[in-house]
This record gives sequence, C-alpha cells and structure tokens, in this order.
Amino acid sequence: MLIIKDILNLKLYLKAYKDKGYSIGYVPTMGALHQGHGKLINQSRDHNQKTITSIFINEKQFNKKEDFDSYPRNKGKDYDFCDSYNVDVIFEPSSDEIYSDNKTKLKNKYFQNILCDQFRPGHFDGVITVLNKLFSIIEVNKVYFGEKDFQQLKIVEKFIEEKFPNLQLVPVSTERHEEGIAYSSRNENLSKKQLQEFINFHNSVIQFTKNFDRQTQIMEANTLAKNFITNLVDQEFDYFEFRNANSLEVEGNISEARLFYAIYKGQTRLIDNIEA
Ligand code: AMP
Repeated sequence: MLIIKDILNLKLYLKAYKDKGYSIGYVPTMGALHQGHGKLINQSRDHNQKTITSIFINEKQFNKKEDFDSYPRNKGKDYDFCDSYNVDVIFEPSSDEIYSDNKTKLKNKYFQNILCDQFRPGHFDGVITVLNKLFSIIEVNKVYFGEKDFQQLKIVEKFIEEKFPNLQLVPVSTERHEEGIAYSSRNENLSKKQLQEFINFHNSVIQFTKNFDRQTQIMEANTLAKNFITNLVDQEFDYFEFRNANSLEVEGNISEARLFYAIYKGQTRLIDNIEA
C-alpha cells in the first residue's frame, strides 16, 4: 500500500494505471476509519482493479471551529486499517495544496434549506468545494458514497451529473453495529454512558417507525414524529422527520420515506436515516 501526500505523485500513479486500462475506484473520507468506510472500500475492491482512499479533514465543511477541532483523528490506525482492507493508495493531501490555487467556496444548489443544510449553513458548500478539487485531481471511473449521509449522497449525485458526467457514483448502504447504530467517526467522542443512551434512542426510533400503516402520508407521520421527539425529555435535536427518499420533500406516503434525524449527545452531533 502506498501513502501519497502530493497531487503530482498521485497524478503520475493514476496515469500509469489508466494507461494500462485499469479501472480505478475512489473512496473519499475524513479519516478515523471504521467498518462503514470499510464497506465502501470493499465495494470498490470488488468493482475495480485499484482502490484509492483519501483522508482529508476538510475544514471548509465545518461551520463551527470547535467541531473541526474535536473531529476524531487517528492517522496511525487509519494506515493499518487501509492496509488490512487491501487499499492500494491512501491519498493524504495537505490543506495548503488542496486550496492553493483557489480559495473561493462553490455554492451548493441542491436540496437546500432542509435537514443538515438548514442546521449547518455552508456545510454542503464546503463539501462540494472539496469534492470539486478532489474529483479534478483523482480522475477515476467510480466513486463510493454512503447512505449514512443521505442528503450528502443526493447532493453529490446531482453535482456529479452536472460537473463530472464520466464519473459513476456508487451508493453504499449503511454499515451498523450489532446494537443498531451506524458506524460513525463521531461515535468515538461519546462516553460509555452517552453511547448506551444513543443505542437506546436509536432502537426506540426503530420501534417507532414500525408503528405506521404503509399508506400513512408522510405529512401525517411527521406530526407523530414531532410528538415522539419532543416527549423525550432532554433530548436535543436539530431535526427528526420523515421525508420522501427520492425528492427529500415532505410528500407521498411512508412506504417511500426515510426517517432522518440529527441529535446531540453532549457536544457530539449524530445523524442517521432509517428506511421507514
Ligand atoms: P466521512 O469520513 O464521515 O466523511 O465518511 C466518508 C464516507 O463514508 C461517506 O461517503 C459516508 O457516507 C460513508 N460512511 C460513513 N459511515 C458509514 C457507515 N456506517 N456505513 C456506510 N458508509 C458510511
């Protein structure tokens, strides 16, 4: 496994294999790798002859400095992790090189003012900005994104259609712990007690989503969702609602919906979405 830290060397590596006609898969990450990332890597390895994983904590997508500062970082372990998943190349660029030529942020225009875009203003502008850079450097065949960050997946899908039509986006379903919660880098910031509370919360949400008749309108279900979350004393949240999984609008019935939540345990913001 190679660890490449600069754009020039990465481009040379890619060119050598593209010239040989290899198909190359790309898994963008912010490090603190876990089995969720592992699932994306495994899919890429199944589909391609070479797999590249990038590790880049993109400051531009954090709208709070404290959130950026407290984001888990564990480089040594990440290298071993990628090695154990047979990644071919880790690309770990510096912020200076990624943002050397252009400091302006792109503006996301898709699925705006709802869910995470409503509560983390500018977050998806930062995501689109860094992906625009990374996709321009890492010109590959396929890129892998997780359904765990569902709104991000939908936005990136539109962005790729518009700006990188030759790149194929492959969505990957969420990898979960036995206890039901999704693998997430942010789980590392939870105390044992907070982790257990989060597991209990998530499992009560699963039970809640099972109560609905498949024909129930999403709008109607959201009245009950609001009651459910506000009745949980002391549970801070940004959003907790059903939305249509295609349009992300509040339209259609439960059989077309996912339940989206962003909650807090202490300072840690946790997001997930569940097929209803
Ligand atoms: P991150 O490092 O959090 O930016 O995530 C990098 C990629 O891994 C994104 O496409 C995420 O959606 C995906 N991902 C994160 N957690 C999971 C999970 N539990 N299962 C599947 N994919 C995930």
